[in-house]
Amino acid sequence: MKIHEFQAKEIFSRYSIPVTKETVCYTTDEVCTASERLGYPVVVKAQVHAGGRGKAGGVKLARTLDDAKNAANQILGMDIKGYTVEKVLVAQGVKFNKEFYVGMTIDRNTKSVLFMASKEGGVEIEEVAKDNPEAILKFPIDPELGMAPFLARKIAFQLFDDFSLVKQGADLFQKLYKIFLDTDSSLVEINPLVITDDGNLLALDGKMNFDDNALFRQKEIEALNEPTEDEKKEIQAKESGLTYIRLDGNIGCMVNGAGLAMASMDVIKHFGGQPANFLDIGGSSNPQKVIDAMNLLTSDKNVKVIMINIFGGITRCDDVAKGLVTALEQLKMDIPIVIRLSGTNAEEGLRIIASQNLPVVGSLSEAAQEAIRLVNAM
Ligand code: GDP
Ligand code: MN
Repeated sequence: MKIHEFQAKEIFSRYSIPVTKETVCYTTDEVCTASERLGYPVVVKAQVHAGGRGKAGGVKLARTLDDAKNAANQILGMDIKGYTVEKVLVAQGVKFNKEFYVGMTIDRNTKSVLFMASKEGGVEIEEVAKDNPEAILKFPIDPELGMAPFLARKIAFQLFDDFSLVKQGADLFQKLYKIFLDTDSSLVEINPLVITDDGNLLALDGKMNFDDNALFRQKEIEALNEPTEDEKKEIQAKESGLTYIRLDGNIGCMVNGAGLAMASMDVIKHFGGQPANFLDIGGSSNPQKVIDAMNLLTSDKNVKVIMINIFGGITRCDDVAKGLVTALEQLKMDIPIVIRLSGTNAEEGLRIIASQNLPVVGSLSEAAQEAIRLVNAM
């Protein structure tokens, strides 16, 4: 789960990490009022769950009321990487001469939190990581010791020359590590961390991602969730007992069992097709589940064909077939379907399907190839 910059900085400031004075605004009028109150210059920043806002034109410095108004008009409603900007942050503009990067993530190789820091922070950090990786220092944090003071100082000494900054940095890194643990983060980043004119460290930007599996014990964080349209569908699917993940392809898949669903997607890919989703309807033959699943699949406009792949183990194919027939009668949809049914009582199941003039195929390979053929014929 992701949160916005202003929410991350609110958490930072609760741990007394210095951040800019700022206000969230939803309209140009609010931006103007906030700018007048903060005093110029201000920075108007898009609040969306995407990085690289600066490069996308979503961060603008304003020196006058007119500037602020123009910035608000330009940024509100703008599209950044598929997200529409609905709110902006108006932050006090800060003078600085150097941008640093600090971040933390979970590193599976060292099985620990990895602390990263660089003297070359700012909007080009991705390029730095690619072209000059040694400019990004990496420190695995021993989970037994945590961010010990000596380690925090060691990192700070590699970033700063001035002793006051080393002290501030070491303090900040320890707080940041505590935030990471306390909130079950999977990523915490400050980019840029800057030195102000009066020689103090300040977090000018903030980014935090969280481990979804820990949200049950992070109610306050969970309350900040703003799911995307796709994520909303996934949540809705879960509520109907389905596991659904949307992908970019055009062959909708409906499968009973997670492993079989993965295999079905692999086989579609193998024959050159593009699956539109992962969908596990579980082991029941309940027609309602099939109806819910079909509604989910057809709500994705990219879906051109639906491939149903059922393997009857404990669930019997004839039961599943009856469920399918009932569901399809109620739905009356015009998207072509390919059905593959195999396992316990398959013959009986296939008879039921065939008696309804529904297209059945013999194997998973055939199903995938038929689905691809149908897509290509459109
Ligand atoms: P991002 O591009 O999504 O990471 O957005 P940031 O919040 O990091 O802003 C992008 C860049 O805008 C920063 O790296 C800074 O160079 C610049 N910036 C942001 N806030 C200020 C500010 O208060 N003063 C100045 N001079 N530059 C700023
Ligand atoms: Mn940034």
